[in-house]
Amino acid sequence: MNLLNLVPPEAERYLTEWLAARNEPRFRLRQILPRLWQRPVVNWGEATELPLELRESLDQEAPLPRLECTQRQVSNDGTVKMLWKLSDGLAVESVWIPEGSRTTLCISSQAGCAYGCVFCATGRMGFQRHLACWEIASQVREMMLDPKFGKPSNVVFMGMGEPLHNWDAVDTTLTILNDPNGFRIGARHITVSTVGLIPGLKQLAARPEQFRLAVSLHSAISERRAALVPVERRYPLPDLQAVLSGFARRVTLEYVMIQEVNDRKEDAAALVDLASRLYALVNLLPLHPGGHDLEPSPPRNIARFAQELRRAGINVSVRKSRGLDISAACGQLEANTDHEQRSVCSDQ
Ligand code: SAH
Ligand code: SF4
Repeated sequence: MNLLNLVPPEAERYLTEWLAARNEPRFRLRQILPRLWQRPVVNWGEATELPLELRESLDQEAPLPRLECTQRQVSNDGTVKMLWKLSDGLAVESVWIPEGSRTTLCISSQAGCAYGCVFCATGRMGFQRHLACWEIASQVREMMLDPKFGKPSNVVFMGMGEPLHNWDAVDTTLTILNDPNGFRIGARHITVSTVGLIPGLKQLAARPEQFRLAVSLHSAISERRAALVPVERRYPLPDLQAVLSGFARRVTLEYVMIQEVNDRKEDAAALVDLASRLYALVNLLPLHPGGHDLEPSPPRNIARFAQELRRAGINVSVRKSRGLDISAACGQLEANTDHEQRSVCSDQ
C-alpha cells in the first residue's frame, strides 16, 4: 500500500482498519497520520513514538516511497533547482524560490509535456508520462524532510508538464496540499497554471476551494496564439473565454513578452478587451532563453505594454525572472540529466 497516493481521509480509513485488524489501540492513528505529510519521516523506522514492532510492520506493509534527488543547483538569486530521478529512470525538476518571508515551490506534474508551446523547453521534450500523485506531492514532502528547506508557504504548478492533462493525480494532490491532515497550505497559496484545457478547467472549477488559477494566454488574438500555443486550435479563445467567465474566482492571465510577436499596440488592445471582460489580473513575464529563436521584448517595450494595460484599468504585474543562471526560470525546465557539472545532493 502506498499511503502517499491517498487523500488524508482515505489514508485515515485504511489505517483505522489496518490498526483494528492487529488489535492496536485507535490512538495510534493520531501518531501515524501526521507522519505522512505534516511531520514527515523518511521511513517508519524514524517514527520513534511508535513501538518498534509497529514500525517494522508499517515499513513492510505500507513503506514510504522517496524521490531521489540527484542534482541540486543554487542560483545567485537564492533560487534552488532540484532534479528528481524517478524509479523508471525519467527525471523531473522542482524550483525553490525564496521571496522575503515567503517561499514558493514550483512543482512538476508530468515528465515532459504534450502541448509543444514553441518557447518552452519542457514542450520540446514531448510527453513522457504522467506523474503519480505521490510523485507530485513528494516534491513538497522531500523539501520538508531536508532541514535546509522546510514547508513552502506557496505552491505553484508551473514546473514541468500540464497539470490539467493529469487531472486525477493533480486533483488528489490539491487535496493533500490543502487538507488539515495534509500539508495544510491555504488554497489561495496554491496556483494551478494551465495552457487552457477546457475539460480540466471545468473539473477545477467544480472544486469548492479557492485554488488560484493562472491561464497561459500569450496572445489574445486567436491566430497569433495558435502560432505560439498549438492547443489554441483545439480549445480556441472564444471557448476558453466562455469557461473562464463562469469561473467563480479571479483568474490570472500569464503573458510571455515576445518582441514583435505579441508586444504590439494591437496585442495590448486585444488583451485589454479580453482581460476586462474576464475581470482578470495580467501577469507579464519576460521570455526566457532555451532552444527557440524568438526574441524577448526589451524592458522598455514591456513597460510600455504594461502602461497601456494599466491605463485601460487592467490590474497588471511584471514578473521578475528567478533562477535564470541555473535554467530554473519558467519554461526552462527540461530535466537534463547529462550535465557535466553534477552537484549531487550532499545528504543522500
Ligand atoms: N503547462 C502549464 C504549466 C507549466 S509552464 C502552463 O503552460 O501554464 C509554466 C509557465 O511558464 C507558463 O505560463 C508558460 O507559458 C511559461 N513559459 C514557458 N516557456 C517559457 C519561456 N521560454 N519563457 C517564459 N515563460 C515560459
Ligand atoms: Fe507544456 Fe506549459 Fe510548456 Fe506549453 S508552456 S509546452 S503547456 S509545460
